[in-house]
Amino acid sequence: MSRYLKEAYQAMEAYVPGEQPRDMAYLKLNTNESPFPPAPAVVAALQKQDVEQLRLYSDPTGRPLKEKLAALYGVKVENIFLSNGSDDILNFAFMAFSGEKGAVFPDITYGFYPVFARLHQVPYAEAPLKEDFSLDYRDYCGVDRLVVIANPNAPTGMTIPVGQIEEILKSNPDSVVLIDEAYVDFGGQSCYPLIADYDNLLVVRTYSKSRCMAGARLGYAIGAAGLIEDLEKLKFSTNPYNINRLTMKLGEMTVDAEAYYQEKCAEIIAVRQWTAKRLEALGFTVLPSSANFLFAKSGRIGGETLYLELKKRGILVRHFSKPRIQDFNRITIGTAEQMELLVQTIQTILTGGNL
Ligand SMILES: *Cc1c(COP(=O)(O)O)cnc(C)c1O
Repeated sequence: MSRYLKEAYQAMEAYVPGEQPRDMAYLKLNTNESPFPPAPAVVAALQKQDVEQLRLYSDPTGRPLKEKLAALYGVKVENIFLSNGSDDILNFAFMAFSGEKGAVFPDITYGFYPVFARLHQVPYAEAPLKEDFSLDYRDYCGVDRLVVIANPNAPTGMTIPVGQIEEILKSNPDSVVLIDEAYVDFGGQSCYPLIADYDNLLVVRTYSKSRCMAGARLGYAIGAAGLIEDLEKLKFSTNPYNINRLTMKLGEMTVDAEAYYQEKCAEIIAVRQWTAKRLEALGFTVLPSSANFLFAKSGRIGGETLYLELKKRGILVRHFSKPRIQDFNRITIGTAEQMELLVQTIQTILTGGNL
């Protein structure tokens, strides 16, 4: 740290992304990327001409992509916001919508929420999930502050019904309720149709997980026109060209290949169910997941030990040292073959003695 850094940032801890080590070729089951490439038309899309066009700025309005997304979801262009990954949207939302009372989110959830709160000096409360890691929606009713809920939640994979989200919306008419739907395509139910009735609902989505494009950095939000206008204001005051031309084009083609992505999501769901059964057969407690990962705990080996033993054998999973969840690992669902290898490797570790 230099002596020039603003005092407000000196004690702040940055978000720690899942590791991306380069020392060997790992099977990466640690950051919830897709094991599949983007749709064939998307893979084939970029031409020499697209690269040449990089001399020009990208379209700061993103209108063609917004039109496609609006048509896909049956909303208006004014209801869509685009940005450089959904983390970028979360950043803007914390900047824009946390009032005097700040924000509230679960104690066990996406690790970026408290980081954004601290970055923007927003006071925040963490509502504890229940013993079984389910979320009690009543903790968020009438709180009168920015509510942030990942549905499905990360790293648990568990969901809350849309009816409960509606109760939260109804009881906080003067605050924004942000629902992070990064994983909704893997078995959750989207609440975006509620934007027609609630001007305080912001639904945040990403191309990183179900759209197989984590490296392209593209996210979008669906919400009432007023909220979208606010986000646009912050984006245009920060970096209006924050989606590059190549990503924008691939994003448009992705919408046209919806069927491919639905098929891949169905495949992930089937492999997830298979993997959960196999882990349970090995004595694991596996939380009910509607995401492209499983959150699982062995009764026979600690979470950190299992993480380290798997890493030694070339498989990366995500371990969190937070006391409530330190016995767990979050395991991204890969292809059937990859999960077969994971299960076999865990079996080897468990039968390897001195545990
Ligand atoms: C992965 C993830 C994101 C971030 O996605 P990007 O679009 O890649 O920035 C947002 N929210 C949750 C809950 C996630 O797990």
